[in-house]
Amino acid sequence: MMPAHLHCRISCIFFAAVLLNISGAPITPTLNDKAVTRLTPPVQLTKRHTILRQSKSVSSSSPSPAVSPTSSPRQRTAAEIHKLTAWLQEFGYLDDNQSAAAEVRALMLTQAIRKLQRYANIAVTGEVDDATMALLDKPRCGQKDFTPAGPRHKRYILLRRRWERGREIDIQFKNHTRDMTIDDQESIISYVIDQWNSAADARLVFHQDGDQIDFPEINIHHTLYDNRGRPFQPYGVLAYAALPRNGDMYFDDTERWAELHTAQPLTFSYTSVALHEMGHSLGLAHSNDPAAVMYAFYGPNRHVLTPDDIAGAVALFGPSK
Ligand SMILES: [Zn+2]
Repeated sequence: MMPAHLHCRISCIFFAAVLLNISGAPITPTLNDKAVTRLTPPVQLTKRHTILRQSKSVSSSSPSPAVSPTSSPRQRTAAEIHKLTAWLQEFGYLDDNQSAAAEVRALMLTQAIRKLQRYANIAVTGEVDDATMALLDKPRCGQKDFTPAGPRHKRYILLRRRWERGREIDIQFKNHTRDMTIDDQESIISYVIDQWNSAADARLVFHQDGDQIDFPEINIHHTLYDNRGRPFQPYGVLAYAALPRNGDMYFDDTERWAELHTAQPLTFSYTSVALHEMGHSLGLAHSNDPAAVMYAFYGPNRHVLTPDDIAGAVALFGPSK
């Protein structure tokens, strides 16, 4: 009997071959991991929160190919196709279709690739090109980009489960990151809460250390495990949040966190990621708007809610009073 891993390898190779046949297009070269993981230039750090506005130089909201499209083509390996397929399934672009015929699976993969390319605002080719492969290594949120339920709007998307309107939502830290002082973390979360409470009639109430309660609706965790219980790795998924009416937020404790994005390699903006994850905690899914805070890929300078985020918050809680 054929070992499972060998069977999978052969299956993947056949799957890749079918894909090549269907797309009928040349397959492009290996992505350069170092090139695609380069972040946008850091913001200039100034005094706390006085600089929390969008920088004109932000380019992170519109992911762009990190590798030249003129690179010489080559065939993708089975491992690369497997990595792409797993990523597309994890983030809601592709159903688990192992039982389908290889030709059908290849067609579904092509459709999923096109869907990702549209979401990421890159050329919609339906091919496994460099720009698409580069997206797999971009830092991002762990939440799916497409959920099967929930009303869809032009940009923002609401989750199916919501908080009761007019009710206070208590939030506090379960534990802290060691990358910043507790005071700094509390200051950032206070700022993030102010953003969402000002956008709509959300009533988040932050309980700082010393004022904690037994059963808050939202706990903020720093953890070594992702939402499937797998060990977090530096980079990749940075954080995720549970949906209402739990709403807990989880930050990847293998990352290095700073109040704002810095020039230090692999250091991420806690403000940007907290603002995003709190949107999930309140009931928002990922937005299709690349400029929005609720866009899935990490934006180092997304520190202020955009009209799209505010429209989503108002749809959930009503206008601010
Ligand atoms: Zn997210």
